[in-house]
Amino acid sequence: MAIKIKTEEEIEKMRKSCEVLSNALAEVVKAVKAGTTGLALDKIAEQFIADHGGKPSFKGYNGFPNSLCISVNDDVVHGIPTAIEYKDGDIISLDCGVYMNGYHGDMAYTVGIGNVRPEVQDLMRVTKESLYLGIQFATVGRRTGDIGFAIQEHCERKHPYKCDRELVGHGLGKTLHEDPQVPNYGRKGDGAKLPENCVIAIEPMVNLGTKDVYTKRDRWTIATQDGKPSVHFEHTLVVKPVKAELLTSFTAIEKAVQENPELVKI
Ligand code: MG
Ligand code: MG
Repeated sequence: MAIKIKTEEEIEKMRKSCEVLSNALAEVVKAVKAGTTGLALDKIAEQFIADHGGKPSFKGYNGFPNSLCISVNDDVVHGIPTAIEYKDGDIISLDCGVYMNGYHGDMAYTVGIGNVRPEVQDLMRVTKESLYLGIQFATVGRRTGDIGFAIQEHCERKHPYKCDRELVGHGLGKTLHEDPQVPNYGRKGDGAKLPENCVIAIEPMVNLGTKDVYTKRDRWTIATQDGKPSVHFEHTLVVKPVKAELLTSFTAIEKAVQENPELVKI
């Protein structure tokens, strides 16, 4: 399968999906606190997306039951929202997709409740930094390995963390997952060459301890083998000659984090 190059019209549609998505996730972040549940957050996302004319990309995807993937603490990704109440010190990774006018957007953000251990706060900060370092290489003629190298360099060599090997970023558009795959590790100059106007999701999933993961008995949730925390941030963006254009935005989410007294500020 070849990398699909998007027209300006297609990119405009994806911009709209991503705008609704960014605002949906901000609504969710406003509601995160000790005592709430993943199912309550999932309802907020589903309602917001419906109210703005979209559909949740994940609901029904290979049978996934919800609008949000919510991965708590040692869960890496693909967590199913549950009725378990969050508690002080939990970190919650919120991953969401919106499908509108025939196109998907995909993004993720991790928040922490109350007294999050300093090393886990550092993991959150470093993972987010690595996302933006990777994005710097999402330019025309670069390769997916340049992005993966930048992410891995920051998390594993400058910091003592581990990037997930089994889960990767991806192209997207009419379908949620397209070529190319965008690993969070790699070597400079390896992988697919990025053409102008291809749209990709870059999404470092970074673990405090081992890189090794397993699938929990719910058959969806991927978790770390050593039970240590994992953090996930993701943007959808367009590859451009000088600088990638972000289609998703953390602006509203970060405002919500600042204004939510329950959440740790990293
Ligand atoms: Mg993704
Ligand atoms: Mg995602």
